[in-house]
Amino acid sequence: MEGLSVAMRSACELGIFQGIQIPNGGPKISHLLHADDALFIGEWSRNNISNLARILHCFHVSSGLKVNFNKSKVFGVGSDMQEVARWASTLGCEPSALPFTYLGVPVGANMNLKKNWEPIIERFRSKLSKWKSKSLSFGGRLTLTQSVLGNLPTYFLSLFLAPDGIIQTLEKLRRRFLWGASVDKKKIHWVSWDRVVAPKEMGGLWIGTIKSLNISLLMKWWWKLRTEPHHLWAQVISSLHNLKVKPDGIYSKKSLTRVWNNIAGIKKALGKKEIPIESVLSKQHTTNGETWRCCLSSTGTYEVRDLRHRWDYTTSVMDGQISWLKEVPLKVYCFIWRAKMGRIPVAVELAKRGVVPENLTCPMCNEYEEDSNHVLVDCSYARSVCEGVSRWCNIQLGPLHTVKDVLGSISQWGVCKKRRRIILAIYYGTLWSLWKTRNEMVFKKNRLPPDKVTDIIKSVVYLWVKNRGNNDKLNWASWSHCPWLF
Ligand SMILES: [Zn+2]
Repeated sequence: MEGLSVAMRSACELGIFQGIQIPNGGPKISHLLHADDALFIGEWSRNNISNLARILHCFHVSSGLKVNFNKSKVFGVGSDMQEVARWASTLGCEPSALPFTYLGVPVGANMNLKKNWEPIIERFRSKLSKWKSKSLSFGGRLTLTQSVLGNLPTYFLSLFLAPDGIIQTLEKLRRRFLWGASVDKKKIHWVSWDRVVAPKEMGGLWIGTIKSLNISLLMKWWWKLRTEPHHLWAQVISSLHNLKVKPDGIYSKKSLTRVWNNIAGIKKALGKKEIPIESVLSKQHTTNGETWRCCLSSTGTYEVRDLRHRWDYTTSVMDGQISWLKEVPLKVYCFIWRAKMGRIPVAVELAKRGVVPENLTCPMCNEYEEDSNHVLVDCSYARSVCEGVSRWCNIQLGPLHTVKDVLGSISQWGVCKKRRRIILAIYYGTLWSLWKTRNEMVFKKNRLPPDKVTDIIKSVVYLWVKNRGNNDKLNWASWSHCPWLF
């Protein structure tokens, strides 16, 4: 393909092929190559098209590489469709018109119109409905909710500003899937979506909003335009919109159309979120001229995740904030996160949401109403299990009544970081196992004795710490005796 590029360049120099001159002193473009895909751009004239056919023929003879005209298309921008059809036939190509799809991206389509986003919505829907949400844990659904943003959607979102209605539709699909809803069945959304998407240190699960992804991906063009001004695309864009005259010309929206108009509009969008553009990108004058710096990262280089984080960060701290541990599976982490906020399907919470359970009494002790703090901490059954765990770990935690108490007390415990991680994993495992035991009782009427549950906790957390925490030296004999012996 390099040969073709050389041939095109010399054809342009000799005046055999007329490329397109970008105004305001920009470059002249005749062709763009991407892998085995070629795009020829030139003045709309019969002569130019015939000469292009000759160039491609010569290229075929000398290199053996033949252009597949059956698969190629001719577009005439602003020309009569009949003329396009006539000239295309001389090349043996199909005539076509804007908008069209190139490398999966719509070219020339007005992406401010909702209908042009249909493929993305369809993709979301099919990708999420392929999975039986029922057969996945909350953690599994969370992972899919995040990964549905891969490939094509990200491609679109990195080029076009999605209309607000589209973002709302996409978020709704993600939200419904996360909470296990199907087409015909609604499910309780236990935690508000704002909390789910918020960064972890703000008490969320940080799956991030689609809006923040869209804004941050588009912002990358600003960054690249300024830090890679010598790239061909950057020269085309800045000449086309005459950005050279005004160094910060991209701020001015008047001269810009569609895609770049939307990209320029990010400044305003950031402003609404009280993120001044200067706090994201700043110009610095050095002896070598001006350079740009991203103020959100320590390295000074723009990264999409930094702006996403900043965008999604603005909500206030919520009580879902818990320590993340690599030892603990995601589904357990999500459970603890929900339990701390009391957002798990215990009788009292279900009743609050209009689902009337048979009775509100705790299935483990049959004495008190079942709320999350009771069943996981305050219940006599939970206390017996926890006593077994404290004896095994040789620790005293004092009087605890809520999940928050337990997590707060554990996170203060001890001075050794490694030990604190382990004790946290043990108590995450304890709360998780208590919940599983409660479900075993509710759904299968099978009541395990508390010391059996303590044994389950020992073995479950053993596997987490050994495998997920990469502690190869950990052995069962010493662990089951006391977790601090290794
Ligand atoms: Zn109870």
